[in-house]
Amino acid sequence: MSTLKRILVTGGAGFLGSHLCDRLVKAGHDVICLDNFFTSQKSNVAHLLGRANFELVRHDVTLPYWLEVDEVYNLACPAAPGHYQYNPIKTMKTSVMGAINMLGMAKRCRAKILQASTSEVYGDPEVHPQPETYKGSVNTLGPRACYDEGKRAAETLFMDYHRMNGVNIRIVRIFNTYGPRMHPFDGRVVSNFIRQALLGEDITLFGDGAQTRSFCYRDDLIEGMIRMMNGSDAFIGPVNIGNPGEFTIRRLAELTIELTGSRSRLVMRPLPADDPRQRQPDITLARKHLGWEPKVPLREGLQKTIEWFRSINMGHFRAPTPNY
Ligand code: NAD
Ligand code: UDP
Repeated sequence: MSTLKRILVTGGAGFLGSHLCDRLVKAGHDVICLDNFFTSQKSNVAHLLGRANFELVRHDVTLPYWLEVDEVYNLACPAAPGHYQYNPIKTMKTSVMGAINMLGMAKRCRAKILQASTSEVYGDPEVHPQPETYKGSVNTLGPRACYDEGKRAAETLFMDYHRMNGVNIRIVRIFNTYGPRMHPFDGRVVSNFIRQALLGEDITLFGDGAQTRSFCYRDDLIEGMIRMMNGSDAFIGPVNIGNPGEFTIRRLAELTIELTGSRSRLVMRPLPADDPRQRQPDITLARKHLGWEPKVPLREGLQKTIEWFRSINMGHFRAPTPNY
């Protein structure tokens, strides 16, 4: 029997989705990339368009879609704070209605389905590093809640479709991931700092830059996600996928200046509401069940990302929202 599968990737034209499509197409699978292009553009997958085993569909996951597939990677959702806060009601709809629509499809065609969840389910964590057993500290009323609570509700829906309907699910909680094809105007810290450094603009430190994040290079992340999809049905997650190397945002700014050779200055800007003070994944479960751990250190990954930013014409990218 062939091991090749029909695989749907929602949000497949985005930063992570397009790299996932690359990997799956290369492995010979029949890949359907579904996207509404809110925070991405076709150029991310343009190189795949002529391939016999790749198909691109413009569709919004808040509406049902009828397909016959073996696997679904559900990534459709704006991920950068400036993007998901632009239309918070739509963000919540994308997470919740998107999950219902994709889970319904998976149930009908007995497909395996993986949810791209997030470290944001832990909110501003009081436990450090964060294991999957930590239930989180999310402000339900704040500006990040549309994303955090939407993703938490999606996890609940995945578990309930699994328990009630026997849907074969996987949940991965992704920690800050960066790399080539990040949207240069997405407002996320890595893309902002590199763009600002290359253009010689001020580098905007929100707060004093003492807050921490743990940055995972995109290749490591995609490998973890694929291992989880292909792993044992006895381990459905949630599983943290991220790089435990923890850095202050100020350190990231200094490293970006060093690696770009930029003369940009650091300037302080107000810290956004509910900005988590610290974040670091406990990856014990990923190591144990998937034999996975990240391989690319921040310095090396940043160098590759900077190279990519140097290679693109930023004028060809449309800022999805004014918030960057
Ligand atoms: P991205 O914004 O580049 O990709 C998201 C994609 O989803 C985009 O192509 C966008 O156009 C599409 N999309 C948004 N709303 C949609 C809708 N209603 N219907 C169809 N398509 C829609 O972001 P990314 O970093 O590639 O994130 C991919 C997934 O991984 C997201 O679900 C995100 O929450 C999750 N994630 C990413 C990170 C990270 O650090 N990159 C961290 C945690 C979780
Ligand atoms: N940040 C910053 N300057 C920027 C963009 C972001 O100091 O230009 C900070 C932000 O306040 C947060 C961290 O960098 O503390 C990571 O922000 P990002 O939006 O990338 O992702 P988050 O992990 O907060 O969702």
